[in-house]
Amino acid sequence: MTRFADVRGHDRVRGFLQSAVAEGRLAHALMFAGSDGIGKRSVALALAARLLCEADGDDACGVCASCRQAGVGSHADLLTVVPAAGKKEIGVDRVRDLKRFMQLQPLGGRAKVVIIDDAPTLSTAAQNALLKTLEEPPPRSFLILIVNNADSLLSTVRSRCQRVNFSPLPTEIVVEILTANGLEAPAAIELAALAEGSPGRALRLQSCVLDGARARLSASLADLRGARYSRLMQVAHELGHPESDLPVKLELVLAHFRDVVVEAIRTASYATADAALRQADLVNEAWQSVRYRNPNRSLLLEALLLQLAAI
Ligand SMILES: [Zn+2]
Repeated sequence: MTRFADVRGHDRVRGFLQSAVAEGRLAHALMFAGSDGIGKRSVALALAARLLCEADGDDACGVCASCRQAGVGSHADLLTVVPAAGKKEIGVDRVRDLKRFMQLQPLGGRAKVVIIDDAPTLSTAAQNALLKTLEEPPPRSFLILIVNNADSLLSTVRSRCQRVNFSPLPTEIVVEILTANGLEAPAAIELAALAEGSPGRALRLQSCVLDGARARLSASLADLRGARYSRLMQVAHELGHPESDLPVKLELVLAHFRDVVVEAIRTASYATADAALRQADLVNEAWQSVRYRNPNRSLLLEALLLQLAAI
């Protein structure tokens, strides 16, 4: 199981949540906002474990029946909601299920906790179906919405949740987490430098970074302007294959343009910085689209490359 004591970094958030629980003033609808892979889910699980624990300490005790059930991922009062297999969205049906779950008396007697992992995958209808529950949650029930971009939720949902912001982790903590995950120190340091404070992102980038793919990608991106159409389509093809790597490769492309911005600002080349910022925006838009919608990927990549080359 995950306890607050197991969470690396996020001291401010942990302190806030622990005292809110201790003082009985924890909001019933919480929105954990911050970049992907930064540790929001771990903190949500630690909070759930604390709320469900039979002891009354600052942290889940780790030994009571409730903590043992949470430890094996089968606590009857804890529900994690994600899109069904093969689906990109969480539909209204799942929201009905979670409402029924929240209405039930806690079996362990403490609380009911629902975690919606990646809440922007809730369909618009599902978000609307959730409003009343967010406004008037059943007693002793807690709902935690995890989001990497709060703007992707309806404002009516956002305004009904207490927002808890997660900041990027310091690079040295990312390195620690990566080495604890079995990475050698040099690889951990290289990945952490790209990870923007997110261990999850570092782990996703791992396969594409450590085999030299990143260097090849940066070389391709460096000479886009004025490139021939056939060259642009070749880069689009490289990004799109294998298909499963596309989201990670788009993150690397984003990292490339951010590096260009930083370097251009350092050397006072403001026109270059401005261009690279606009390029980064386009890539970010494409990444969001791949992640949350279901675009025609080859068309999306072709359009992206043409736009990047035109800036
Ligand atoms: Zn316990």
